[in-house]
Amino acid sequence: MATLELDSVTKTFQDGDEEVVAVDDISMSIDDGEFLVVVGPSGCGKSTTLRMIAGLETITDGTLSIDDRVVNDVKSQDRDIAMVFQSYALYPHMSVRENMSFGLEESTDLPDDEIARMVTETGELLDIGELLNRKPKDLSGGQQQRVALGRAIVRDPEVFLMDEPLSNLDAKLRAEMRTELQRLQDDLGVTTVYVTHDQTEAMTMGDRIAILDGGELQQIAEPLKCYHEPANQFVASFLGEPSMNFFDVRLDGDRLVGDVFEYPVGDDVRSDLGETTDLVFGIRPEAVELVEGKSDAHEFEMTVDVVEPMGDENTVYLHFDPDADPESAETLVATIDGFTRVSEGDSVVARIPEDAIHLFDRATGEALH
Ligand code: ATP
Repeated sequence: MATLELDSVTKTFQDGDEEVVAVDDISMSIDDGEFLVVVGPSGCGKSTTLRMIAGLETITDGTLSIDDRVVNDVKSQDRDIAMVFQSYALYPHMSVRENMSFGLEESTDLPDDEIARMVTETGELLDIGELLNRKPKDLSGGQQQRVALGRAIVRDPEVFLMDEPLSNLDAKLRAEMRTELQRLQDDLGVTTVYVTHDQTEAMTMGDRIAILDGGELQQIAEPLKCYHEPANQFVASFLGEPSMNFFDVRLDGDRLVGDVFEYPVGDDVRSDLGETTDLVFGIRPEAVELVEGKSDAHEFEMTVDVVEPMGDENTVYLHFDPDADPESAETLVATIDGFTRVSEGDSVVARIPEDAIHLFDRATGEALH
Protein backbone atom coordinates (compact mmCIF):
# COMPACT_ATOMS: atom_id res chain seq x y z
CA MET A 1 0.00 0.00 0.00
CA ALA A 2 1.11 3.54 -0.54
CA THR A 3 0.82 7.22 0.19
CA LEU A 4 0.80 9.74 -2.64
CA GLU A 5 2.02 13.28 -2.36
CA LEU A 6 1.71 16.12 -4.85
CA ASP A 7 3.83 19.12 -3.95
CA SER A 8 3.18 22.28 -6.01
CA VAL A 9 2.52 20.20 -9.10
CA THR A 10 2.00 22.21 -12.28
CA LYS A 11 1.40 21.15 -15.85
CA THR A 12 1.55 23.46 -18.81
CA PHE A 13 0.90 22.51 -22.42
CA GLN A 14 2.07 24.43 -25.43
CA ASP A 15 -0.85 25.04 -27.77
CA GLY A 16 0.68 26.81 -30.78
CA ASP A 17 1.96 30.10 -29.42
CA GLU A 18 -0.17 29.83 -26.32
CA GLU A 19 0.75 28.26 -23.02
CA VAL A 20 -2.14 26.38 -21.39
CA VAL A 21 -1.85 25.91 -17.62
CA ALA A 22 -3.84 22.69 -17.17
CA VAL A 23 -2.83 22.09 -13.54
CA ASP A 24 -1.75 25.04 -11.45
CA ASP A 25 0.40 24.53 -8.35
CA ILE A 26 -1.58 21.71 -6.75
CA SER A 27 -0.47 20.28 -3.41
CA MET A 28 -2.21 17.39 -1.71
CA SER A 29 -1.42 14.24 0.25
CA ILE A 30 -3.37 11.05 -0.22
CA ASP A 31 -3.23 8.64 2.69
CA ASP A 32 -2.41 4.98 2.57
CA GLY A 33 -5.61 3.12 1.64
CA GLU A 34 -7.58 6.31 1.08
CA PHE A 35 -10.24 6.70 -1.63
CA LEU A 36 -9.81 10.21 -3.01
CA VAL A 37 -12.28 11.51 -5.58
CA VAL A 38 -11.07 14.33 -7.82
CA VAL A 39 -14.02 16.27 -9.15
CA GLY A 40 -14.67 19.43 -11.12
CA PRO A 41 -16.16 20.76 -14.34
CA SER A 42 -14.93 19.87 -17.80
CA GLY A 43 -11.42 21.14 -18.49
CA CYS A 44 -10.54 21.78 -14.83
CA GLY A 45 -7.46 19.55 -15.00
CA LYS A 46 -8.72 16.30 -13.44
CA SER A 47 -7.48 13.93 -16.13
CA THR A 48 -4.18 15.73 -16.47
CA THR A 49 -3.60 15.38 -12.72
CA LEU A 50 -4.37 11.66 -12.89
CA ARG A 51 -2.20 11.18 -15.97
CA MET A 52 0.74 12.83 -14.21
CA ILE A 53 0.32 10.46 -11.26
CA ALA A 54 0.17 7.59 -13.74
CA GLY A 55 3.33 8.74 -15.49
CA LEU A 56 1.51 9.19 -18.80
CA GLU A 57 2.19 12.92 -18.74
CA THR A 58 5.38 14.69 -17.63
CA ILE A 59 5.27 17.09 -14.70
CA THR A 60 6.24 20.66 -15.66
CA ASP A 61 6.94 21.83 -12.11
CA GLY A 62 6.74 20.47 -8.56
CA THR A 63 7.20 16.94 -7.25
CA LEU A 64 5.14 13.78 -7.10
CA SER A 65 6.06 11.19 -4.48
CA ILE A 66 4.78 7.68 -3.94
CA ASP A 67 5.68 6.41 -0.48
CA ASP A 68 8.11 9.29 0.04
CA ARG A 69 10.01 8.45 -3.16
CA VAL A 70 10.02 11.20 -5.79
CA VAL A 71 8.77 9.56 -8.98
CA ASN A 72 8.73 12.49 -11.44
CA ASP A 73 11.19 10.64 -13.65
CA VAL A 74 10.08 7.08 -12.93
CA LYS A 75 8.47 5.35 -15.92
CA SER A 76 4.78 4.55 -15.76
CA GLN A 77 5.34 0.77 -15.72
CA ASP A 78 7.72 1.10 -12.75
CA ARG A 79 5.28 3.03 -10.54
CA ASP A 80 3.22 0.00 -9.41
CA ILE A 81 -0.08 1.56 -10.30
CA ALA A 82 -3.07 0.23 -12.23
CA MET A 83 -5.43 2.39 -14.23
CA VAL A 84 -9.07 1.96 -15.16
CA PHE A 85 -10.40 4.24 -17.87
CA GLN A 86 -13.81 5.29 -19.07
CA SER A 87 -13.32 3.22 -22.22
CA TYR A 88 -12.68 -0.29 -21.04
CA ALA A 89 -10.03 -0.84 -23.72
CA LEU A 90 -10.38 -4.61 -23.63
CA TYR A 91 -8.63 -6.63 -26.34
CA PRO A 92 -11.52 -7.84 -28.54
CA HIS A 93 -9.75 -10.99 -29.79
CA MET A 94 -8.86 -12.19 -26.28
CA SER A 95 -11.13 -13.98 -23.81
CA VAL A 96 -11.94 -12.40 -20.46
CA ARG A 97 -9.36 -14.67 -18.84
CA GLU A 98 -6.69 -13.63 -21.36
CA ASN A 99 -7.59 -9.96 -20.98
CA MET A 100 -7.05 -10.25 -17.25
CA SER A 101 -3.88 -12.34 -17.32
CA PHE A 102 -2.13 -10.55 -20.18
CA GLY A 103 -0.65 -7.74 -18.07
CA LEU A 104 0.67 -10.14 -15.45
CA GLU A 105 2.27 -12.39 -18.04
CA GLU A 106 4.01 -9.38 -19.57
CA SER A 107 5.22 -7.74 -16.40
CA THR A 108 6.00 -10.60 -13.99
CA ASP A 109 7.76 -13.95 -13.94
CA LEU A 110 4.88 -15.64 -12.14
CA PRO A 111 4.22 -19.23 -13.30
CA ASP A 112 1.16 -19.75 -15.51
CA ASP A 113 -0.78 -21.76 -12.92
CA GLU A 114 -0.26 -19.02 -10.32
CA ILE A 115 -1.56 -16.39 -12.78
CA ALA A 116 -4.53 -18.61 -13.62
CA ARG A 117 -5.35 -18.96 -9.92
CA MET A 118 -5.15 -15.17 -9.41
CA VAL A 119 -7.42 -14.51 -12.39
CA THR A 120 -9.97 -17.08 -11.18
CA GLU A 121 -9.95 -15.56 -7.71
CA THR A 122 -10.38 -11.99 -9.03
CA GLY A 123 -13.13 -13.18 -11.39
CA GLU A 124 -15.02 -14.59 -8.42
CA LEU A 125 -14.49 -11.43 -6.40
CA LEU A 126 -16.10 -9.44 -9.21
CA ASP A 127 -18.84 -11.95 -9.93
CA ILE A 128 -17.61 -12.66 -13.46
CA GLY A 129 -16.27 -16.14 -12.65
CA GLU A 130 -18.72 -17.69 -15.12
CA LEU A 131 -17.66 -15.43 -17.97
CA LEU A 132 -13.92 -16.03 -18.11
CA ASN A 133 -14.03 -17.88 -21.44
CA ARG A 134 -16.19 -15.31 -23.24
CA LYS A 135 -14.98 -12.60 -25.60
CA PRO A 136 -15.65 -8.93 -24.67
CA LYS A 137 -18.28 -8.55 -27.43
CA ASP A 138 -20.40 -11.20 -25.70
CA LEU A 139 -20.55 -9.21 -22.46
CA SER A 140 -22.84 -6.39 -21.34
CA GLY A 141 -21.35 -2.93 -20.67
CA GLY A 142 -21.41 -3.57 -16.92
CA GLN A 143 -19.66 -6.91 -17.33
CA GLN A 144 -17.02 -5.36 -19.57
CA GLN A 145 -16.38 -2.72 -16.93
CA ARG A 146 -15.92 -5.47 -14.34
CA VAL A 147 -13.33 -7.12 -16.58
CA ALA A 148 -11.50 -3.79 -16.89
CA LEU A 149 -11.57 -3.52 -13.10
CA GLY A 150 -10.47 -7.13 -12.75
CA ARG A 151 -7.50 -6.48 -14.98
CA ALA A 152 -6.43 -3.71 -12.59
CA ILE A 153 -7.16 -5.66 -9.38
CA VAL A 154 -5.38 -8.85 -10.43
CA ARG A 155 -2.11 -6.92 -10.66
CA ASP A 156 -2.37 -6.13 -6.95
CA PRO A 157 -0.93 -2.63 -7.40
CA GLU A 158 0.04 -0.06 -4.77
CA VAL A 159 -2.33 2.51 -6.27
CA PHE A 160 -5.50 2.43 -8.37
CA LEU A 161 -6.13 5.35 -10.71
CA MET A 162 -9.61 5.55 -12.19
CA ASP A 163 -10.77 8.05 -14.81
CA GLU A 164 -14.59 8.21 -15.03
CA PRO A 165 -14.79 4.40 -15.02
CA LEU A 166 -18.58 4.28 -14.71
CA SER A 167 -19.60 6.95 -17.18
CA ASN A 168 -20.45 4.53 -20.01
CA LEU A 169 -22.96 2.63 -17.86
CA ASP A 170 -26.67 3.39 -17.58
CA ALA A 171 -27.92 5.15 -14.45
CA LYS A 172 -29.09 2.04 -12.58
CA LEU A 173 -25.95 0.04 -13.25
CA ARG A 174 -23.82 3.05 -12.40
CA ALA A 175 -25.50 3.30 -9.00
CA GLU A 176 -24.92 -0.42 -8.36
CA MET A 177 -21.29 -0.31 -9.46
CA ARG A 178 -20.73 2.77 -7.31
CA THR A 179 -21.60 0.82 -4.18
CA GLU A 180 -19.70 -2.21 -5.34
CA LEU A 181 -16.54 -0.30 -6.16
CA GLN A 182 -16.59 1.37 -2.77
CA ARG A 183 -16.97 -1.97 -1.01
CA LEU A 184 -14.21 -3.48 -3.11
CA GLN A 185 -11.84 -0.61 -2.44
CA ASP A 186 -12.61 -0.86 1.24
CA ASP A 187 -11.88 -4.60 1.28
CA LEU A 188 -8.70 -4.32 -0.77
CA GLY A 189 -7.52 -1.17 1.02
CA VAL A 190 -5.61 0.04 -2.03
CA THR A 191 -4.94 3.79 -2.24
CA THR A 192 -7.27 5.05 -4.97
CA VAL A 193 -7.57 8.27 -6.94
CA TYR A 194 -10.87 8.44 -8.79
CA VAL A 195 -11.67 11.17 -11.31
CA THR A 196 -15.24 12.14 -12.13
CA HIS A 197 -17.32 15.16 -13.08
CA ASP A 198 -20.35 13.55 -11.38
CA GLN A 199 -21.01 15.13 -8.01
CA THR A 200 -23.11 12.16 -6.82
CA GLU A 201 -20.07 9.91 -7.27
CA ALA A 202 -17.94 12.48 -5.49
CA MET A 203 -20.32 12.86 -2.56
CA THR A 204 -20.98 9.16 -2.06
CA MET A 205 -17.75 7.36 -2.90
CA GLY A 206 -14.79 9.27 -1.57
CA ASP A 207 -13.22 9.32 1.89
CA ARG A 208 -12.31 12.84 0.79
CA ILE A 209 -12.93 14.85 -2.33
CA ALA A 210 -10.58 17.25 -4.09
CA ILE A 211 -12.49 19.92 -6.02
CA LEU A 212 -10.67 21.53 -8.95
CA ASP A 213 -11.53 24.56 -11.04
CA GLY A 214 -9.38 26.19 -13.69
CA GLY A 215 -6.48 23.87 -12.82
CA GLU A 216 -6.48 25.02 -9.19
CA LEU A 217 -7.38 23.04 -6.10
CA GLN A 218 -10.39 24.71 -4.49
CA GLN A 219 -10.86 22.45 -1.47
CA ILE A 220 -9.87 18.99 -0.28
CA ALA A 221 -11.89 17.56 2.59
CA GLU A 222 -14.53 14.97 3.53
CA PRO A 223 -17.55 15.24 1.21
CA LEU A 224 -19.95 16.51 3.87
CA LYS A 225 -17.46 19.09 5.04
CA CYS A 226 -17.15 20.44 1.49
CA TYR A 227 -20.94 20.48 1.25
CA HIS A 228 -21.66 22.17 4.57
CA GLU A 229 -18.51 24.25 4.93
CA PRO A 230 -17.47 25.12 1.37
CA ALA A 231 -14.17 26.99 1.18
CA ASN A 232 -15.52 29.37 -1.44
CA GLN A 233 -18.45 30.21 -3.66
CA PHE A 234 -17.27 27.91 -6.44
CA VAL A 235 -17.37 24.84 -4.18
CA ALA A 236 -20.72 25.95 -2.76
CA SER A 237 -22.22 26.22 -6.23
CA PHE A 238 -20.60 23.07 -7.62
CA LEU A 239 -21.94 20.73 -4.93
CA GLY A 240 -25.70 20.35 -4.53
CA GLU A 241 -28.61 19.98 -6.95
CA PRO A 242 -30.46 22.31 -7.28
CA SER A 243 -27.57 24.64 -6.65
CA MET A 244 -27.25 26.93 -3.63
CA ASN A 245 -29.17 30.25 -3.99
CA PHE A 246 -26.91 33.29 -4.21
CA PHE A 247 -27.78 37.00 -3.76
CA ASP A 248 -25.51 40.02 -3.74
CA VAL A 249 -25.85 41.84 -0.42
CA ARG A 250 -24.13 44.65 1.50
CA LEU A 251 -23.62 44.70 5.25
CA ASP A 252 -25.23 47.80 6.73
CA GLY A 253 -25.10 47.87 10.54
CA ASP A 254 -26.70 44.64 11.67
CA ARG A 255 -28.53 44.00 8.39
CA LEU A 256 -27.61 42.41 5.10
CA VAL A 257 -29.22 44.52 2.41
CA GLY A 258 -29.92 43.01 -1.00
CA ASP A 259 -31.85 44.29 -4.01
CA VAL A 260 -35.10 42.70 -2.90
CA PHE A 261 -34.72 41.77 0.75
CA GLU A 262 -33.10 42.72 4.04
CA TYR A 263 -31.86 40.16 6.51
CA PRO A 264 -30.78 40.97 10.08
CA VAL A 265 -27.77 39.05 11.40
CA GLY A 266 -26.39 38.50 14.90
CA ASP A 267 -22.98 39.45 16.31
CA ASP A 268 -21.53 35.99 15.69
CA VAL A 269 -22.19 36.34 11.95
CA ARG A 270 -20.87 39.90 11.81
CA SER A 271 -17.68 39.00 13.66
CA ASP A 272 -16.84 36.49 10.89
CA LEU A 273 -17.02 39.21 8.23
CA GLY A 274 -14.25 41.49 9.50
CA GLU A 275 -14.15 44.65 7.41
CA THR A 276 -15.82 43.10 4.38
CA THR A 277 -19.18 44.60 3.50
CA ASP A 278 -19.70 43.56 -0.13
CA LEU A 279 -20.91 39.99 0.15
CA VAL A 280 -22.73 37.16 -1.53
CA PHE A 281 -25.50 35.64 0.56
CA GLY A 282 -25.96 31.86 0.06
CA ILE A 283 -28.71 29.53 1.16
CA ARG A 284 -29.20 25.89 0.10
CA PRO A 285 -32.65 25.08 -1.35
CA GLU A 286 -33.27 22.36 1.26
CA ALA A 287 -32.58 24.82 4.10
CA VAL A 288 -35.50 27.04 3.08
CA GLU A 289 -38.70 26.23 4.99
CA LEU A 290 -42.29 27.12 4.15
CA VAL A 291 -44.09 28.27 7.32
CA GLU A 292 -47.56 29.45 8.35
CA GLY A 293 -47.66 33.26 8.59
CA LYS A 294 -44.76 35.68 8.91
CA SER A 295 -43.51 36.07 12.48
CA ASP A 296 -39.94 37.35 12.22
CA ALA A 297 -37.48 39.16 9.98
CA HIS A 298 -35.98 35.91 8.65
CA GLU A 299 -39.33 35.10 7.02
CA PHE A 300 -40.48 36.49 3.68
CA GLU A 301 -43.80 36.72 1.91
CA MET A 302 -43.28 35.24 -1.51
CA THR A 303 -45.12 34.03 -4.59
CA VAL A 304 -44.79 30.56 -6.09
CA ASP A 305 -43.63 30.81 -9.69
CA VAL A 306 -43.03 27.18 -10.67
CA VAL A 307 -43.38 23.81 -8.89
CA GLU A 308 -41.38 20.81 -10.10
CA PRO A 309 -42.74 17.67 -8.42
CA MET A 310 -39.93 15.10 -7.98
CA GLY A 311 -41.97 12.50 -6.07
CA ASP A 312 -40.46 12.50 -2.61
CA GLU A 313 -39.83 16.24 -2.81
CA ASN A 314 -40.85 19.35 -4.73
CA THR A 315 -38.54 21.93 -6.17
CA VAL A 316 -40.30 25.27 -5.78
CA TYR A 317 -39.25 28.53 -7.46
CA LEU A 318 -40.34 31.54 -5.39
CA HIS A 319 -40.35 35.30 -6.05
CA PHE A 320 -39.49 37.77 -3.34
CA ASP A 321 -41.65 40.52 -4.74
CA PRO A 322 -45.25 39.43 -5.36
CA ASP A 323 -45.83 42.29 -7.80
CA ALA A 324 -42.64 41.93 -9.80
CA ASP A 325 -42.57 40.82 -13.40
CA PRO A 326 -41.66 37.08 -13.19
CA GLU A 327 -39.03 37.59 -15.90
CA SER A 328 -37.03 40.00 -13.79
CA ALA A 329 -37.95 39.06 -10.21
CA GLU A 330 -35.27 37.53 -7.98
CA THR A 331 -35.93 33.86 -7.52
CA LEU A 332 -35.38 31.72 -4.45
CA VAL A 333 -35.30 27.97 -5.07
CA ALA A 334 -36.61 25.79 -2.25
CA THR A 335 -36.72 22.01 -1.95
CA ILE A 336 -39.66 20.95 0.16
CA ASP A 337 -41.41 17.75 1.18
CA GLY A 338 -43.32 16.08 -1.68
CA PHE A 339 -46.50 15.96 0.40
CA THR A 340 -46.64 19.73 0.87
CA ARG A 341 -49.17 21.01 -1.65
CA VAL A 342 -48.24 24.29 -3.32
CA SER A 343 -49.26 25.58 -6.72
CA GLU A 344 -48.16 28.26 -9.12
CA GLY A 345 -49.39 31.70 -8.00
CA ASP A 346 -49.80 30.73 -4.31
CA SER A 347 -48.70 33.22 -1.67
CA VAL A 348 -46.43 31.55 0.86
CA VAL A 349 -44.06 32.50 3.67
CA ALA A 350 -40.50 31.22 3.31
CA ARG A 351 -38.17 31.05 6.28
CA ILE A 352 -34.41 31.35 5.79
CA PRO A 353 -32.88 30.12 9.06
CA GLU A 354 -29.89 32.15 10.19
CA ASP A 355 -27.88 29.07 11.14
CA ALA A 356 -28.07 27.86 7.52
CA ILE A 357 -26.83 30.97 5.71
CA HIS A 358 -23.44 31.25 4.00
CA LEU A 359 -21.64 34.51 3.30
CA PHE A 360 -18.88 34.92 0.74
CA ASP A 361 -16.54 37.80 0.00
CA ARG A 362 -17.96 39.17 -3.26
CA ALA A 363 -14.53 40.18 -4.56
CA THR A 364 -12.67 36.90 -3.92
CA GLY A 365 -15.43 34.30 -3.48
CA GLU A 366 -13.84 33.20 -0.21
CA ALA A 367 -16.27 31.84 2.39
CA LEU A 368 -16.38 34.13 5.43
CA HIS A 369 -19.30 32.57 7.29
P1 ATP B 1 -12.89 16.59 -18.84
O1 ATP B 1 -13.78 16.34 -17.69
O2 ATP B 1 -13.58 17.36 -19.96
O3 ATP B 1 -12.15 15.38 -19.32
P2 ATP B 1 -10.59 17.50 -17.30
O4 ATP B 1 -10.94 18.18 -16.04
O5 ATP B 1 -10.16 16.08 -17.20
O6 ATP B 1 -11.77 17.66 -18.35
P3 ATP B 1 -8.07 17.96 -18.62
O7 ATP B 1 -8.30 16.94 -19.68
O8 ATP B 1 -7.13 17.62 -17.54
O9 ATP B 1 -9.46 18.39 -17.97
O10 ATP B 1 -7.62 19.32 -19.32
C1 ATP B 1 -7.27 20.47 -18.60
C2 ATP B 1 -6.93 21.59 -19.56
O11 ATP B 1 -5.74 21.28 -20.26
C3 ATP B 1 -7.98 21.85 -20.62
O12 ATP B 1 -8.05 23.23 -20.85
C4 ATP B 1 -7.43 21.12 -21.84
O13 ATP B 1 -7.90 21.72 -23.02
C5 ATP B 1 -5.95 21.31 -21.66
N1 ATP B 1 -5.18 20.21 -22.27
C6 ATP B 1 -5.21 18.90 -21.93
N2 ATP B 1 -4.36 18.18 -22.69
C7 ATP B 1 -3.77 19.07 -23.54
C8 ATP B 1 -2.78 18.95 -24.57
N3 ATP B 1 -2.23 17.79 -24.87
N4 ATP B 1 -2.43 20.08 -25.22
C9 ATP B 1 -2.97 21.28 -24.90
N5 ATP B 1 -3.89 21.46 -23.96
C10 ATP B 1 -4.30 20.36 -23.26
